[in-house]
Amino acid sequence: MLRFITCGSVDDGKSTLLGRLLYDAGMLADDQLDALRRDSRRRGGENLDFSLVTDGLDAEREQGITIDVAWRYFHTARRSFIVGDCPGHEQYTRNMATGASQVDLAVVLVDARKGLLPQTRRHTYLCALLGIRRIVLAVNKMDLVGLDAGVYEAIVGPYRELAAAMGIEAVHALPVVAPEGDNVGRRSTRMPWYEGPSLLELLETVDASSAPPSPFRLPVQWVNRPDQHFRGYAGTVCGGRVAVGDEVVVQPGGRYARVERIVGPDADLAQAAPGQAITLCLDRELDISRGDVVSAAAQPAPVADQFGCHLVWFGDAPLLPSRSYLLRLGTATANARVTAIKHKVDVNTQAPLAASRLELNEVGYCNIDLDRPLAFERYADDRTLGGFVLIDRQTHATVACGMLDFALQRSANIH
Ligand code: GDP
Repeated sequence: MLRFITCGSVDDGKSTLLGRLLYDAGMLADDQLDALRRDSRRRGGENLDFSLVTDGLDAEREQGITIDVAWRYFHTARRSFIVGDCPGHEQYTRNMATGASQVDLAVVLVDARKGLLPQTRRHTYLCALLGIRRIVLAVNKMDLVGLDAGVYEAIVGPYRELAAAMGIEAVHALPVVAPEGDNVGRRSTRMPWYEGPSLLELLETVDASSAPPSPFRLPVQWVNRPDQHFRGYAGTVCGGRVAVGDEVVVQPGGRYARVERIVGPDADLAQAAPGQAITLCLDRELDISRGDVVSAAAQPAPVADQFGCHLVWFGDAPLLPSRSYLLRLGTATANARVTAIKHKVDVNTQAPLAASRLELNEVGYCNIDLDRPLAFERYADDRTLGGFVLIDRQTHATVACGMLDFALQRSANIH
């Protein structure tokens, strides 16, 4: 399974590329193809207008239904995919942040005529900030620059440099003509100077493994206690493996136990791995509740109540330091205050700027203070236990997403 998002400015050809990709992957059903032919003709075009494939979602948006990120599933014989289309113009940063925090890879589109724009830099910075380490740079509209290798190279070279400087580990670049399908589902014969794979081939074969193996972590979603004879802690493993007999520690309290049973959806399991939803039974009764984290005893998650973190601000009202927000981290909730905005980041140049508040779509580096200690990980190591959201108490709106950087101070007397 590969999860990815597409990023680009308006009119770069995102919808066309995605529509063409689904078409080339054979994922459009007969009735969808009929509708596409009909709608393309109605628009007066001779050829299929692939941007219409994703139009149903636009209609929903016009009706005012909020869709931060529209996810679609498709598959080929070699791999399954979930692709997120991050819509919206003025809310682009928020939508991208929502999408990017859940994916392994981003396809960044550039219009060959325009080259690298401040938006390209901004999207790449947000991808890097949100933990994406692999980018496909699709240089689209190559037909409008005479399918010229020189134009392509002049975009790709500087892009590789800027992406590397932001911490992106791999850039796969390719020249594309989205409506014609050149290098989308098949390799283009019109650009023989490009010898790499098509977009679909690349997506089918790219290394999707994300985080390095980490110690066992299970954020407890709920305590399952149907009767006196059974007490289990349910959640989805977010790091490492656990086996029956393993010693674990429950945090933030620091209570130790051994795993007695691992209950899977259908039967008991001998062990469990990341992504698996399980219920753990321990060999002794502990007072565990939603939001606690069960960790490998030898390598417990750090616990703290003060952090340095990046915040991407979504709120209509600005972030005001010292106001109290609700923080959700993994399955845990706490009250949080931003005690200092160290700086905000100019998302186009990445320059740090002095700031006393954060406005909608701004990114800042802040200190945050919780009313109780929580188990966490650095976002760079674990997006589940390192990524959080802030919620406004009055409006219940999500006003920010955050990436934990490190603990400012460990609380006393906790593991
Ligand atoms: P989006 O706003 O990024 O989703 O862009 P669209 O997919 O709606 O495309 C914007 C316009 O550019 C449409 O008129 C497309 O037909 C056109 N377009 C997209 N890709 C290409 C391309 O490779 N070559 C040419 N000539 N036009 C393209």
